[in-house]
Amino acid sequence: MRLGALETGGTKMVCAVGDETGKIYERTTIPTDAPQTTMPQLIAYFREKGVEALGVGCFGPIELDRTSPRYGYITSTPKEAWRNCPVVSVFAEALQCPIGFDTDVNSAVLGEVTFGQACGKRCVVYLTVGTGVGAGVYIEGKLLHGMLHPEAGHVMIRRKENDRYAGRCPYHRNCLEGLASGPAIRERWGAKAELLANREEVWELEADYIAQALAGYILTLSPQMIILGGGVMHQEQLFPLIRRKVAQMLNGYIQTRELEDMEHYIVPAALRGDQGIMGCLELARLELCAGRPAENNKKSNQL
Ligand code: ADP
Ligand code: ZN
Repeated sequence: MRLGALETGGTKMVCAVGDETGKIYERTTIPTDAPQTTMPQLIAYFREKGVEALGVGCFGPIELDRTSPRYGYITSTPKEAWRNCPVVSVFAEALQCPIGFDTDVNSAVLGEVTFGQACGKRCVVYLTVGTGVGAGVYIEGKLLHGMLHPEAGHVMIRRKENDRYAGRCPYHRNCLEGLASGPAIRERWGAKAELLANREEVWELEADYIAQALAGYILTLSPQMIILGGGVMHQEQLFPLIRRKVAQMLNGYIQTRELEDMEHYIVPAALRGDQGIMGCLELARLELCAGRPAENNKKSNQL
């Protein structure tokens, strides 16, 4: 299969051509401008490559309800130019092929369960901590959508008493994204997160906030593995801190093999940053197979 993959981002669009094994043949990036400028460039790229299907991992919020007339739209995104952009129908019309569509973070978790370290697991959470904070959720072998899709970067966090930083989410005073994103670290401590590696107190606090969110995900979703990615997680010292704090917060209430082996339970993303784009290949494959007769459709129970 010749599959197209597109990861949308606030500053750039990552475009790739690959196949159903996750192999990427070629890729390019296109700067993110307004859709009137950027969409024709994306279409030209994928048209020239002759892809059989395209998978799009998209910033959100997006409409994933296939019964809605607005299925495949970007909806209330803060990136104003992209609000109400009908991504799926524009690509479908221009490329005349199936278009898989999901959130960027759901694509990342799909990449990890299809091609990465979570292969074979049925319940996995992927959390990215970068410019924003977001979580992809794979539950009982499917990407979780529900009424919308998870927005688990905005779960409420109990603020530490000595933390005077106001938070930077315009919607919530103390959500995870507002308190723990890369830009929140920069505002609170007055320097970019990557320059604060030696400041222990920065990572103690960061690990506490991330651990609170993870404890909540563990209690509500019962994941078999939690994968942490995004720029901020390049600070590897966060991992042991987060693992220790999660164990303290759960306080022995849940006893499973997974939680006894925290080093293999809360883990860094391991597809060299390609989990999102590889997940988009799988989104494309799933959409292509969904339109074919059942005998060609061996792995398609995920839609
Ligand atoms: P984006 O979320 O924009 O797709 P990233 O996941 O790289 O991109 O996140 C960017 C954020 O991560 C920035 O706020 C940056 O300060 C932070 N960041 C990037 N690299 C590091 C690092 N090595 N250590 C800590 N923070 C980092
Ligand atoms: Zn928020």
